[in-house]
Order: sequence, then C-alpha cells, then structure tokens
Amino acid sequence: MATGVEQEKPARPPWLKVRLEDWAGFKTTEEIVELHGLNTVCHSAHCPNIGECWSRGTATLMLLGNTCTRRCGFCAVLSGVPRAYDPHESERVAQAVKAMGLKFAVLTSVARDDLPDGGASVFADSIRAIRRECPGVGVEVLIPDLHGNKTHLDTIFEARPDVLNHNLETVERLQRHVRPSAGYACSLKVLRLAADAGLVAKSGLMLGLGETDGEVREALRDLKQNGVAMITMGQYLPPDDDHLPLERYATPEQFDALGDYARKLGFQHVESAPLVRSSYHSEEAPAATGTRPS
Ligand code: SF4
Repeated sequence: MATGVEQEKPARPPWLKVRLEDWAGFKTTEEIVELHGLNTVCHSAHCPNIGECWSRGTATLMLLGNTCTRRCGFCAVLSGVPRAYDPHESERVAQAVKAMGLKFAVLTSVARDDLPDGGASVFADSIRAIRRECPGVGVEVLIPDLHGNKTHLDTIFEARPDVLNHNLETVERLQRHVRPSAGYACSLKVLRLAADAGLVAKSGLMLGLGETDGEVREALRDLKQNGVAMITMGQYLPPDDDHLPLERYATPEQFDALGDYARKLGFQHVESAPLVRSSYHSEEAPAATGTRPS
C-alpha cells in the first residue's frame, strides 16, 4: 500500500566506491572499441568497474548488437527489437582483441531469441576468429541460456572456449522475479552440458535482490553438483529506479564467508566481493584452474 512517504535509499557504503586509475589507458580502450564499432557490456550494463578495467586495457565485448530480446529486472542493457546483426562482427572482435593486446578475451552477447540459433554461431565464429588472429589468447564466453537447446549449445562448445560462463544470477526462489524469461533448472542444465562437454564451466550470483545467505549456499551447492568449477559473487546495484530495488548491501565479510564456503565445496576459482562482476579479473582464472589457452 502506498504511504505517500518516499523510502530513503541507504547511502552507498565506502567499499563500493570506485576510482579511475589511468585516464590515458581508459581512452585507448575506448578508442579501440569505437574504432571497431563494437559494443561492450561494461558500458551497456553500467558496470562500476569500467574505470579500473578499461584503464588496464581490458573490456568485455558484447556480440550481436546492443538490444536484448529479454527484459530482466536487474539489467541495464537496452531491451526491445534488435536490428539485423553484422555477419562479419567476429572479424572486428578479433581485430579489437589484437589491438588491445589482450592475453585473455571475454565475450558476451545480448539474448537474441529472434535468431534461429540464438546467436550461437556468432559466438563460435568469434572464438575461432580470435584463435586465428591472436594465437595463444584465452577466450571466455559468457552466454545466454539458448533455452537449453543442446544443438545450439554444442555449436559454441565445439569452438572450445577456455571458459564457458553462464550466470545463474540469483537463488532459486527469486528466479522468476529477477529474470522472467529464464529459469534455475535451465541454467543448471546449460552448465551441466558444458561441464559434460569437457569445458571449464563458470557461473555467477548477485547479492542484494532479496536472497538469504542460506539460499546462496544452496545455489552454490547446486552449481557445484552440476559441474561448475568457477564462481563469481558480487553486489547487485540497481541501474536506476525502473529496475529491481536494492534489498541489501552485503558486507565484505559476508562475501568473504560465502567465498570460503564455495572454496570448501571445491570450486577451483572463487571471486566473492562487492565489486566482483562475472568478467572481473577473468584473466587471472586460467592459472588458478589449470586451464590454458587452446
Ligand atoms: S568487470 Fe567486466 S563488465 Fe565490468 S568493466 Fe570490467 S570487464 Fe567490463
């Protein structure tokens, strides 16, 4: 019931303050992204780490345009009817990875439920283009669920990314509320299929959407049981008032405790801290998991 009284938003705690480290490095990354006509999730999702990552010369490239066919309540990426995509985007992606001098590239995409294969072939082409143009560079792909379609998932798996990332995003109870077009069981299936295909499976959870720590631990157990080797946990930050409200700021100590719990479960690589995002410090994970660029 509306009370007519505006709820005061809690002040952003000090551990979420970010700063730009190297303006020149940031500009260089920005220029490379623009020159190759690419989208990034860093920009489209209003990632708080953009200052740090772009200063270091890393960015997460977003394939298949800037318009998503889904409308998740937490996500700042534009949703609507996408334009036709460029079939040569994979070449531009590889050129940008080369120009940035990356040792490890992270690719993601908007969801493209309008395409017959959900965009799987564009992921596969981009992995192969990077392998051709940038030998020795590792590739992580952060993929949508492709409705759990094994044929489309196999298209990506056969290109052998070094890490196959798919985010569970939140606990089972909140799935429908947070991402109405996706589902807990479907995401676990995607990850299980990736692990069964011999890939390093990775996933991520956000805290602050109304979950309890007990529910997060349950989700971690489910991920582990479905073959996931790497996990990221970070603070949800609403992009604006039109998105799902913030339910809590989890403290660094809570993130540490959940990270310790994940390590005890046997995850090989765990990133758990307020500013962690699924692609944050991705380049450090291959060493930790023993994976090598193919
Ligand atoms: S954490 Fe990921 S999405 Fe955010 S700025 Fe860094 S590379 Fe981009």
